[in-house]
Amino acid sequence: MLSRPLAEPYRIKMVEPLKITTREQRQELIKSAGYNPFLLKSQDVYIDLLTDSGTSAMSDNQWAGLLLGDESYAGSRSFDSLRQAVQDVFGFDYVLPTHQGRAAENILFLTMVKEGQIVPNNMHFDTTKAHVIQKRGRPLDLVTDIAYVASDTSPFKGDMDTHKLDQVLTNQRDDVPLVMLTITCNSAGGQPVSMANIREVSKICKKHGVPFFIDACRFAENAFFIRERERGYENASIADIVREMFSYADGCTMSAKKDALVNIGGFLATRDEKIYRAAMVWCVLFEGFPTYGGLAGRDMEAIARGLYEVLSLDYLAERIGQVRYLADRLREQGIPLVEPTGGHGVYIDAQKMLSHIPKEQFPAWALSVALYVEGGVRGVEIGSVLSGRRPDGENDYARMELVRLAIPRRVYTDRHMDVVVAAAAAVRDKASAIPGFRFVEEPPILRHFTAKFEPVGGRTGVLF
Ligand SMILES: *Cc1c(COP(=O)(O)O)cnc(C)c1O
Repeated sequence: MLSRPLAEPYRIKMVEPLKITTREQRQELIKSAGYNPFLLKSQDVYIDLLTDSGTSAMSDNQWAGLLLGDESYAGSRSFDSLRQAVQDVFGFDYVLPTHQGRAAENILFLTMVKEGQIVPNNMHFDTTKAHVIQKRGRPLDLVTDIAYVASDTSPFKGDMDTHKLDQVLTNQRDDVPLVMLTITCNSAGGQPVSMANIREVSKICKKHGVPFFIDACRFAENAFFIRERERGYENASIADIVREMFSYADGCTMSAKKDALVNIGGFLATRDEKIYRAAMVWCVLFEGFPTYGGLAGRDMEAIARGLYEVLSLDYLAERIGQVRYLADRLREQGIPLVEPTGGHGVYIDAQKMLSHIPKEQFPAWALSVALYVEGGVRGVEIGSVLSGRRPDGENDYARMELVRLAIPRRVYTDRHMDVVVAAAAAVRDKASAIPGFRFVEEPPILRHFTAKFEPVGGRTGVLF
């Protein structure tokens, strides 16, 4: 395992004060938010681990880039910076800037997917899946079976099952407009994809003449895992590993809110001029002129700088080291986790931790509320509240009841992580007194964002 630097490879030159609340205040605050952490004001959250998307701290170099942004409608100098960075880092000549990752998915699938067609992916991220479906295509998850086994500690649980992919392409070649691979595999817990797997997927796609695109959101974190775990890469630079990864693909979609270390932005990039020209038409319609797409010039400048910064081995060792630090401390406290620890967050197995709460009373939701009350920590339920209902009206119970603690990049220190561990330990100590929840208000779609709850039994137990 690659070791973490002695301390952060950066120092702090601007701070954002945080409000520290008392336990009693948090009990009131979460109650008036209908026991829904999404409805809390962010100022009432001490450590916000809701997402790693768009929450990074930019560097002084990126902030300086904002002031140099060229806001010209056409032919912006900042677009040249972005295009140069994408060429250097990924090796793709053609770039369309978009307002975020899902917009790149939108214009790619509008260009390539026709009604009834199948899009294989190791595991579709929510927005990717939604965009395939919206074009009347059929998303198909082909990740290896071990991805679904929480306790399996295999090094590359994000790999695609290439045997299944070959079968699909052999039997239904004409129904598959493109193949995608998500690195790291977000929906499987930020698990990496090996270089061998990327190479093999590419080979199969070439054999059948199908374009191959990478969902590149966490490309640098994935490259770090390859360097750490795959033979032959232990001395390679992250830049070289990234170049090799993308040399096997025809293009990528990117949410710059992840590994470009900015707060908003994305792009579609490709080496295929034909795909680029076709996608450009949709870019103009939905995003903007091809040299700014959905972005301000200053945003393109910050993304360009972030794409180089994220290749630093010291940065990545610190980043992934911090995620591991949190996981290791939680494990020491006997908190059950999804293994192995992925690149951008830690997933707590709430069903195991709060085993007295039946799934009908949403154990992972209860854990997310309890972590807030105990420590002012906001994680996110990835369980049956999120899953929603089936067409017949029944709850569509999730395979696993998880709370994800996603770590923003360059934002919190290990001492903040210690607060998270203390909150989890406090919940563990009073686990049996923590109540389940039921809906008071339940919106018909995407219910987790705005639903309101009450503790089951209306009890005012230890916590509520
Ligand atoms: C975040 C994300 C997206 C979508 O990007 P947005 O910028 O949120 O639109 C797509 N795929 C993966 C794997 C992601 O993590």
